[in-house]
Order: sequence, then structure tokens, then C-alpha cells
Amino acid sequence: MDRVLVTGGAGYIGSHACKALARAGFVPVAFDNLSTGWAAAAKYGPLVVGDLMDRAAIDAAMAEHRPVAVMHFAALSLVGESMRDPGRYWRVNVTGALNLIEAALAAGCRNMVFSSTCATYGDQDGVMLDEDTPQAPINAYGGSKRAIEDMLRDFGASHGLNHVIFRYFNVAGADPEGEIGEQHEPETHLIPLMLDAVAGRRPALTVFGTDYPTPDGTCIRDYVHVWDLVQAHVLGLRWLLDGRDSRVFNLGTGRGFSVREVIEASRAVTNREVPVVMGDRRPGDAVQLVSGSRRAIEELGWEPAHSTLAQMIGDAWAWHQGGGHPRG
Ligand code: UDP
Repeated sequence: MDRVLVTGGAGYIGSHACKALARAGFVPVAFDNLSTGWAAAAKYGPLVVGDLMDRAAIDAAMAEHRPVAVMHFAALSLVGESMRDPGRYWRVNVTGALNLIEAALAAGCRNMVFSSTCATYGDQDGVMLDEDTPQAPINAYGGSKRAIEDMLRDFGASHGLNHVIFRYFNVAGADPEGEIGEQHEPETHLIPLMLDAVAGRRPALTVFGTDYPTPDGTCIRDYVHVWDLVQAHVLGLRWLLDGRDSRVFNLGTGRGFSVREVIEASRAVTNREVPVVMGDRRPGDAVQLVSGSRRAIEELGWEPAHSTLAQMIGDAWAWHQGGGHPRG
């Protein structure tokens, strides 16, 4: 069976990708430094505990597992943190990706699926974002991801590194079978924080800004179910293994929901109130990020069938009530 090296394979999206790869007949080899991931989540194939800052560790994993492709998820990924400490984002994300690309090429592996973000588009007031929208990130997280996209293009031209870039919108939900889910410490994302507040694990959800130029004053995001998202990665991998050209795909549904609408949907799913506090804007947040592209659907045959707010919140709630990954 073909092996795929999955950096960040013990993290939220990476662990779901490993499960999807295993289902699709590949052996996912998770490569993760466990700084934010969970060893218990990396259960769909071997786990290599290693750091992308350590080139020798990547070389060793490549030599041992001889992957046909790499899926690169490992990164720092918090907008707010990237505004406070941009140096860390540039160092870790960009250097890590450079080490990975060079190690893959040195090992003869020329296929890479990369986890990028709609944050590379920046704040483009009211524009439906598609893959040809000029990128103009407004935070170091988006900036570092755009730099890696550029790096992939350069190595594609010089060394034949074939790549599929996925620009995610807001990933949410959990494995519909309940085996894995979203668990960050500390948590910063809207839906898990909201469910913590619903369950009484924190006093309230703070809504970051109610004076945005949107119909209800709160930010609008395009939420996509993590299981749909990782199915696209399997399709992207097959695209590369079929010898097709490097390509960029947005992964979003094309429907935007405000923070208030997400809170409203939660009430319907959990039958409980969300304790809410209205707060200030969070620096670095774009007003609205919604995909205006059908490219992944049309070219990859992607079907984001689980990406309703009801299912995303419902699967996250089921995972949340199960208590999460065991520690250690
Ligand atoms: N948000 C919020 N309160 C929170 C966390 C997030 O109001 O405690 C808002 C945030 O401003 C953004 C949306 O929810 O508009 C999604 O934020 P998240 O951090 O989940 O994802 P991001 O869009 O930063 O990738």
C-alpha cells in the first residue's frame, strides 16, 4: 500500500486526513511534534514524533517510509497570535515548509498537497473570493501561508514539485463517527468555544465585534465540515498521482454565516442557550470570507455533503460531550 507522509497528522485536520487516507487505501504516516496535536489522534497509521525545524528528522522519516506524496498540515494557525508574534509565524511556518520541500525532493518525492487558507486573500470588502482573486493577506498567518504557496510554485518550476494547494475557509465539525475531533489548548475557535460556553465549561462566548459592516454587525465566515475537507485532500492526492498539473482550489461552500447566525444554529442543535458577551473586534479579522468558487466541485468532483451548520455543530457537540482525546 502506498504511504503518504502527513505533517501535523496528530492535529485536528491532519488526524481526519489520516483517517480519510486509510479509508481510501493508503497508509498515512503522521509526522508531528505534538506541540498542539494528540498522540491518541494519530491512530490510523504510524506516528513519527518529529519537528519540521529538524531537517534530519524529516530525512529519516522519508528514508524509512518512502512516501508517494506529502500532505502538509503542520503549522501555527492562529490569526490573533500571528498578529502578536509575527516572527514566530514566519520562522516556523516558512522554514518548516522549506525544510519539508527540500527533504521531499531529496528523497525523490515530488507530490505535495498543501494546507493553505482563505486568510491569504485578506479583507476584500464584499468580494466573493475565488482562486484568481489577488492575494493580499492582512495578518502574519495569511502572509506566511502565501509565502509557502509561492515557494511551492518556485520549486514546481525548478524541480518538478507537483502540488495541490487548498485554501480553506473555516473548518468545523468532527468525525461523524465520533473517533476524533477538534481539541486545541488553548481553544480559540468559534464553534468549540461556543460549545464550551453551552456546556458550562466557560462562562460565556465573547463575540468579537458587533459593529462590522454586515447585516447583523458580526463577521461572516464560510464554514466547511472537516470530513468534507479531508475528502477533497484525497481527491487532490489522486489528482497528483494521476499526473495532473499543479492546481489551487478553494475549499468552502459559498455560503457565509455571521457569528450571530452560528449562535442561533447552535440553539437549534443543542436545545440550550449560548451565554454570550459582546466584545471588541479581534485584530487581524477580515469582515467577510466566503468562497465564490466551484472549482473543487467541478474539477475534483468534490461533494461537501456534510457542510451544513446543523451537522457541523451537531458533530462537534457529540465529540465535545464525549470528552475529547485522552491526554498524554
Ligand atoms: N469569534 C468570536 N469569538 C470567539 C472566537 C471567534 O466572535 O471567541 C469570531 C471571529 O472574530 C471570526 C469567527 O468567529 O469572525 C471565526 O473565528 P475563528 O477563530 O473560529 O476562525 P478564523 O476565522 O480566525 O479562522
